Amino acid sequence: MKKRGRPRVDPAERFWPNVEKTDECWIWKGGANKRGYGSFFDGVWNVRAHRYSYELAIGPIPPGLHLDHLCRNTRCVRPDHLEPVTGEENHRRGRAAREEARLKKWAEFAESAGPPPARTDRNSRRENAAFNEST
Ligand SMILES: [Zn+2]
Repeated sequence: MKKRGRPRVDPAERFWPNVEKTDECWIWKGGANKRGYGSFFDGVWNVRAHRYSYELAIGPIPPGLHLDHLCRNTRCVRPDHLEPVTGEENHRRGRAAREEARLKKWAEFAESAGPPPARTDRNSRRENAAFNEST
């Protein structure tokens, strides 16, 4: 069957030039919405780039399901980094990821503070006192 009207480039062909494949993630280089998700015009709608990629590679996403980024990279469109989950599950994972990020931040903070000064050094005894006062 031949399509009527002016010939149009297949949206799928327009899609891939916007994707930069790294060893890990396939990064969407096209437009993005306010929440940081890639946005792509499929010829009819503006769709989420990662959803479009998943549907190209795997097939339709069951209604009501969200695509969760296993790599937590919202710009990633690599189909095997995406997993359909219920909205609830996605929220739960989002919270877990935020918690993880918070803990990581703390760990980095603790590391940058360095080890407490050695006790034998006279100068560091003062630092030690300051350290103890501040805690
Ligand atoms: Zn990824």
